[in-house]
Amino acid sequence: MTTWTDHSADRPLTFSAPSGIDRSAHHRLDEAWLAAAWSHPTTRVFVVSGGQALIDDTPDGRTELITTPSFEAPLTEAHRYYLGTDDEGVSYFALQKDSLPGRMDQSARPAGLREAGLLLSPRDAGLLVHAVALENWQRLHRFCSRCGERTVIAAAGHIRRCPACGAEHYPRTDPAVIMLVTDEEDRALLGRQVHWPEGRFSTLAGFVEPGESIEQSVAREVFEEAGVVVGDVEYIASQPWPFPSSLMLGFMARATSSEIQVDGEEIEEARWFSREDLRAAFESGEVLPPYGISIAARLIELWYGKPLPKP
Ligand SMILES: [Zn+2]
Repeated sequence: MTTWTDHSADRPLTFSAPSGIDRSAHHRLDEAWLAAAWSHPTTRVFVVSGGQALIDDTPDGRTELITTPSFEAPLTEAHRYYLGTDDEGVSYFALQKDSLPGRMDQSARPAGLREAGLLLSPRDAGLLVHAVALENWQRLHRFCSRCGERTVIAAAGHIRRCPACGAEHYPRTDPAVIMLVTDEEDRALLGRQVHWPEGRFSTLAGFVEPGESIEQSVAREVFEEAGVVVGDVEYIASQPWPFPSSLMLGFMARATSSEIQVDGEEIEEARWFSREDLRAAFESGEVLPPYGISIAARLIELWYGKPLPKP
């Protein structure tokens, strides 16, 4: 079995790099501690709304999340998420609001994870992905799944409680598998989803079903989408993907058959690419590279052996 060496390990996988933030989950139920952390002068706060936050460019060419001290932040106690504390003792909170605050700075702008993930430091990207994941879950779980009563926020954004039946609901994360399949000629199987623009090819992916192992899920998805049978499956890395609530589990998988038969529903076209095929297709513009923030790009690079050529 191949051992995969990640030649791009110096460039961290977006949203998966160490953020330097300790989530300090043990503080989430301690209201006195949270109140003290909130009012501490070093505490930093940002607003998250509809999956976006404000980002800004710094004079030295970086891009950062715009944060303010808590005394400048709008008061919305009910939607305050504690995200954690860094190793200098600075605590971070996100406020979920219906809209982002207006900004006077010319370069400040709202951005979602797909844009900001490529620009922000691992710390800021980690804070934003945590806040957006909580916001998505809070927005979609306002009612108790046991009794239908309206639930209330607790644990600094990490629990919703039902006042009627006492149920506690925790943020859910839906596991999804994403895999680069290679054949015995070491070609890579890439597919094009029905709703993607012409020329966009990427790894196959799908959700883990109830009662299924992730290895079974990889094999089932590849067969369903492309008609290819998979043998060995090797785990590579994971990536939070809160669109709205997935965790992408990335694999390399070895095919034991090569004939392709796409399902035509999710995948419109799939092809085996040699490295030379892919290089030529990228350079001619026939194939568009995968989105930069996605683990798909990293899996393809891992097989390709070096950064992907630019079109
Ligand atoms: Zn209930």
